[in-house]
Amino acid sequence: MARDEHGTAELVRSGQGQDCENERNGRQAGGMRIMLVVKIGGSEGIEHELIADDLAELVRKGERLIVVHGGSALTNRVAEQLGHPPEFVTSVSGFSSRRTDRRTLEIFEMVYCGQVNKGLVERLQRRGVNAIGLAGLDGRIWQGPRKDAIKIVRNGRRMVLRDDYTGKVEKVNASLLVSLLDAGYLPVLTPPAISYEGEASNVDGDRAAAATAVALGAEALVILSNVPGLLERFPDESSLIRNIPSGRIEKFLEVAADRMKKKVMGAQEALAQGVGRVVFADGRVERPIRRALEGEGTVIGG
Ligand code: ADP
Repeated sequence: MARDEHGTAELVRSGQGQDCENERNGRQAGGMRIMLVVKIGGSEGIEHELIADDLAELVRKGERLIVVHGGSALTNRVAEQLGHPPEFVTSVSGFSSRRTDRRTLEIFEMVYCGQVNKGLVERLQRRGVNAIGLAGLDGRIWQGPRKDAIKIVRNGRRMVLRDDYTGKVEKVNASLLVSLLDAGYLPVLTPPAISYEGEASNVDGDRAAAATAVALGAEALVILSNVPGLLERFPDESSLIRNIPSGRIEKFLEVAADRMKKKVMGAQEALAQGVGRVVFADGRVERPIRRALEGEGTVIGG
């Protein structure tokens, strides 16, 4: 992903502004604010109440934060209830992704931008945090190409899907995010993104979070899921991999299956483009973000 130079320059200037603001508010001002991107997974078991407690505490301490979230498990349930069950397709390169026809996109937006996003915003507001929920398509926060033809394998046969609304993030509107942070808001972001042609497109949340961390020059990206981190022998939680040096990520791509592979790829992209460290951590525990920053979970780079 091309780094948004304008947005990054903006960040440096306004980072200083934030310190002055903190001083005025009587909060600790010393040094540069650490920029942190937190991705909250969408699988079952992730504890939004505990995560909101931790986010509120970090905001109180003056941390500059951006939240990105998913919503896959709830989307699957709602899609079933609405009589449009989820379908997952496997690309020729072996990755599985949600088949996103127009109806699926509508259901996806109802759940991600509606229930999950507003649920998180409400939890944060209840804790005194001025959270603002936005999708990647709002203000072109996440922009990139829509994949107009997806090559998949179905029942052993290759096929091309043309009516799919899936894409990827190439550009991040960092200056909008920095303006929100400077004005005291906590941005809570969710797919879909917006294509260059102005169509909503379903993007992978982990990789969108990685792109956001890169564009903002984040010190850390914390990816919370319903596992303690990357497991050497999934699902054996005692096989947690604690540390991966940046140079050795490639080797660990083999350990990660399917969805976890995208997280590892996101981590690889983020580290290669200047993010200090990426931590895969447990989103089911108390103080999940601070524990991740203290080194619990799988720490990559750093
Ligand atoms: P989320 O929606 O929380 O981002 P995903 O479902 O996308 O989470 O990815 C996390 C899932 O990846 C885990 O719940 C687990 O089922 C799966 N997974 C596959 N391989 C591994 C692995 N080696 N270590 C940990 N989790 C793995």
